[in-house]
Amino acid sequence: MRGAIAVLLAACLGACASTPPRNPLAQWHGSPNHNARSAQLIVLHQTEMDSAQAALLTLRTRNAQGRVSAHYLIGNDGRLYQLVSEDARAWHAGAARWAGLHDLNSASIGIELDNDGHSAFSEPQLQALLRVLADLTARLDIPRHLIVAHGDIAPTRKHDPGVLFPWPRLAQAGFGLWPRAVPAAPPPRFDPWLALRVIGYDLRDPAAAVRAFHRHYRASEGDAWEPEDAAILYDLQQQLLQLPPTAEPMATPSL
Ligand SMILES: [Zn+2]
Repeated sequence: MRGAIAVLLAACLGACASTPPRNPLAQWHGSPNHNARSAQLIVLHQTEMDSAQAALLTLRTRNAQGRVSAHYLIGNDGRLYQLVSEDARAWHAGAARWAGLHDLNSASIGIELDNDGHSAFSEPQLQALLRVLADLTARLDIPRHLIVAHGDIAPTRKHDPGVLFPWPRLAQAGFGLWPRAVPAAPPPRFDPWLALRVIGYDLRDPAAAVRAFHRHYRASEGDAWEPEDAAILYDLQQQLLQLPPTAEPMATPSL
């Protein structure tokens, strides 16, 4: 008898452990037609610390400014560390907005680059970044152009990675949104603010958004429009408007 109870208890515990959270307001009619949610974009950071070891400590413990983390950290020597599972929500973006998304931690993979904020990014580190970007975009079906800076998504608070980050290097390898070699001339009534919004920038602080755009695309940090900006913005906007719609990964053909 005691044995039978033990078996029943074990079966119940097993079932309970595998029961997914269900809303008591609804009747459960489970469907097998689903898969795990995954990230939609990749956010790059620079640690602004003296070493990868110091960054590892900050990203794995409490610290004075609050607890932070990232999915990956890439050392200056090219070593790749993973700190958080890709299906979990690392705390790297903070208050941020991009292309209408508000909860960027839920929507993104965060990659920290070991860099003090004043030095060039090393070749081994960039090679490791390109390798992991190729892996993540392929494996998680993240569109290759959706690689942005922390400074892009939080323009009033953040400025990483800074102006030394080589976005053209990423573009040569097919990552990130980048103007084509010969951008088309913008039409006479072209609206640069609308283009910034189409790219994804939050315009609640317009000067901060222009500064973030300049940091990313011009390696400068001015917050006033410059004559060359319109052609770059028009080209980026046109590229986005011409992108094919992103395909949903599906196991079988469906509706
Ligand atoms: Zn950051």
